[in-house]
Amino acid sequence: MDHFLYRDGNLFAEDVPLAEIAAEVGTPFYCYSAATLLRHFRLFEEALAGLPHLVCFAVKSNSNQAVLRLLGQAGAGMDVVSGGEYARAKAAGVPGDRIVFSGVGKTRAEMRAALEGGIRQFNVESEPEMEALSEVAVSLGVTAPIAVRVNPDVDAKTHAKIATGKSENKFGIPISRAAAVYARAAALPGLEVVGIDVHIGSQLTDLEPFRQAYRKVAELTGTLRAQGHDIRRLDLGGGLGIPYARSNEAPPLPLDYGAMIREELGHLDCEIEIEPGRLISGNAGIMVSGVIYVKAGEDRSFLILDAAMNDLVRPSMYDAHHDIVPLVEPAPAADQARYDVVGPVCETGDTFARGRDLPPCAPGDLVAFRSAGAYGAVMSSEYNTRPLIPEVLVQGGDWAVIRPRPGLDEIIARDRVPGWLSAASGEDA
Ligand SMILES: *Cc1c(COP(=O)(O)O)cnc(C)c1O
Repeated sequence: MDHFLYRDGNLFAEDVPLAEIAAEVGTPFYCYSAATLLRHFRLFEEALAGLPHLVCFAVKSNSNQAVLRLLGQAGAGMDVVSGGEYARAKAAGVPGDRIVFSGVGKTRAEMRAALEGGIRQFNVESEPEMEALSEVAVSLGVTAPIAVRVNPDVDAKTHAKIATGKSENKFGIPISRAAAVYARAAALPGLEVVGIDVHIGSQLTDLEPFRQAYRKVAELTGTLRAQGHDIRRLDLGGGLGIPYARSNEAPPLPLDYGAMIREELGHLDCEIEIEPGRLISGNAGIMVSGVIYVKAGEDRSFLILDAAMNDLVRPSMYDAHHDIVPLVEPAPAADQARYDVVGPVCETGDTFARGRDLPPCAPGDLVAFRSAGAYGAVMSSEYNTRPLIPEVLVQGGDWAVIRPRPGLDEIIARDRVPGWLSAASGEDA
């Protein structure tokens, strides 16, 4: 459930008509609902109630300061995958002891920053990383709490680009080597083993792959404890999928996910960490875009929008589906027209949807892409020198721009022309 609903024929974000925001900030823009973000976070809290746990929001899905502050104030921890995300989480006021540092290629500089700023745990992914982290910690006179990310070799049955738990993926260490790797970790002076970490992929629409992975983690917990390791935390990753096509998808609910965790791992007396991103932020955001032209082609019509693949890359990168709805509610039996929905970028890949049925559109009409709150703004770029689009946060009847649209001067001024070019520019003839 989200808080983007029609009222009196107009699409609202909570208590604010989206057309009002569009009139003030211009299109395209992202809009997030605070109530939806909090609702989704609390679903996980409820799902794990009774188990010691920490829900760490995956910052990479939506890293806006306002979003992090909102969730952080509600008690969320954060899962970060770079020094930049770590800095964002800290800047949003999240204490270090609620920040988990994941990622396959942490640099020594990133490790140092996190150790100095405070960190709950590093999820380490290889032996060379373990050794580097130990050295950095020793050089600072501290010990780094770690979980080792194990790769359980299960098929997450999701898009190949976001499946991470098969042995051919770059992530984690093979679970079959875990005992040896934990022995190595325990022997390193700068590390303290606190748990086990696993994350098998994103947008999973079935609990079964999670269950298989968690069963292997439960077994490994017993093995490692028998070898003397103090396994007290299990980080189970993120990845629970969301319904992108409202009409025909029903992925598992957080409550069922929590029940499964209890079944598989509840007896182990461990603190449970989970790292959901998409399920918290995905359906808490939409992207609003305006129609520039409607172009009748030979065998199809194109709806040319002012948003493009640089603003929302998921359709061209992952063949992802986003429901697209008009801001003005269509009458129940309204006519439908069939469109290829595209942006202005000079690539055929800049296509949001093919053969999509929508009420007939005209230039100036506004549409919303649903489920755009995760992996939307964070993956956007300024390709074609299209400024990053603004982000807006709504809370009840209030709304605020939480990232303004940069001006073209600002974008151009980021470049630096070397002296030996500017001296000669245009005046040498
Ligand atoms: C991407 C990622 C997540 C979040 O995945 P979602 O599908 O957004 O829930 C969590 N943990 C790790 C290690 C990740 O790489």
